[in-house]
Amino acid sequence: MTDTIFALATAAGRAAVAVVRVSGPRSGETLEQLAAPLPDPRRAALRRLKSAAGEVLDEALVLWLPGPKSFTGEDSAELHLHGGRAGVEAVTAALSHMGLRLAEPGEFSRRAFQNGKLDLTQAEAIADLVDAETDAQRRQALGQLEGGLSARYEAWRRRLIGALARLEAAVDFPDEDLPEHLQLEAGGRIGDLASDLEAALEDEGRGERVREGFRIALIGAPNAGKSSLLNRLAGREAAIVTATPGTTRDVIEVPAVIDGFKVLFADMAGLRQSSDPIEAEGVRRAHAWAEGADLRLWLVDQSGSEGPSSEAMALARPGDILLLNKADRPPGADATIRMEGLERLPLSAATGAGMDALWAALSARVARLTGGDFPAVTRLRHRRHLQEAAAALRRGQGALARAPELAAEDLRHAALSLGRIAGRIDPEQVLDEVFFSFCIGK
Ligand code: GDP
Repeated sequence: MTDTIFALATAAGRAAVAVVRVSGPRSGETLEQLAAPLPDPRRAALRRLKSAAGEVLDEALVLWLPGPKSFTGEDSAELHLHGGRAGVEAVTAALSHMGLRLAEPGEFSRRAFQNGKLDLTQAEAIADLVDAETDAQRRQALGQLEGGLSARYEAWRRRLIGALARLEAAVDFPDEDLPEHLQLEAGGRIGDLASDLEAALEDEGRGERVREGFRIALIGAPNAGKSSLLNRLAGREAAIVTATPGTTRDVIEVPAVIDGFKVLFADMAGLRQSSDPIEAEGVRRAHAWAEGADLRLWLVDQSGSEGPSSEAMALARPGDILLLNKADRPPGADATIRMEGLERLPLSAATGAGMDALWAALSARVARLTGGDFPAVTRLRHRRHLQEAAAALRRGQGALARAPELAAEDLRHAALSLGRIAGRIDPEQVLDEVFFSFCIGK
């Protein structure tokens, strides 16, 4: 027998309205006790909520949502209270008193998943939708909720099962004429599917970038003007600007939005050898951040003579941008010649000249995140399972001629990995991990 749970579904704190959700087998009787008479299903009704002792707790809009046509699939209710703290506390205390339990984080979504209302990617999409801060995040989460991701995985799984069926038929009838033809056909199907999965994995992390933010590192020698640029990008004094080299030690991350996409700019210690242990640690962190970033902006003081060290330059990747800073000053000995192949933009972080061109270049980089199919991966969890599936398919393809039984085993393994993405066969502890990152009331 499942518990009946409740939680505040809206944000905690003072507000015009606060919504308390109730779900589980005792929802109907609870609502009847609290707000008799029970309203018609799915019809809002105004009721005075009363405690067991008969005290009026609030006047509220209540909804009776009998299962299975509810979010969780169970009998549920919603109480739209006045949003003051005391009122919410009085009502939740009354619910506890009636023997209901406060929901765990993500428990409503988990019940919806367990009752087949959502698959795991859709449950994750709800969490993403609640967390969405930018338009791109919202659109991606909504696409996922509407099955954008599930549909792709289901199509792949079907193709996989088709190949597996042919292969198993070939294994089961080794003496017939049929097998070779079937085996060949299965081989072709496995190869095609593996290629499709691999192509989906090579997406430059589009889906994850939209969710988590596009990471842009500001790098260069001390005093190149990184902090000045960060402040311009942030539109505020996020980092300390001084003429003393080596001021920035921690990585300073500043979130921003470009064309509806979340980006994260990071100013960091100038890359140089340092005997100061604090600065040296700062340089180590800067290296790590820059290496994991999606884009690096290389700042060079074009009026000086010192470009980035060759060690730092080893971090440069195609698509990075070289910013020739301090363009308001006459050029010095050109130390930047060594950075071939990167787009170059003149800039003055001090005057702001060149910022429009920089924003345009950033816009173009970010625009690559859109377009094409719905991404197959929006979280590391999806990526891991998809990689497993692709690898198992390649193993199966390799084993096909020698040992079709082993190939069939590999295909079953691949099907399992694909199925995990939608949460078909996951053990409880995996589900615990997924749902625990949700907030209470979701
Ligand atoms: P960081 O060490 O790379 O973060 O560099 P800062 O942003 O702290 O700048 C170092 C020094 O260069 C400061 O005195 C800034 O005022 C100066 N500076 C930064 N950008 C420019 C620029 O575009 N033109 C000029 N003339 N000075 C700049």
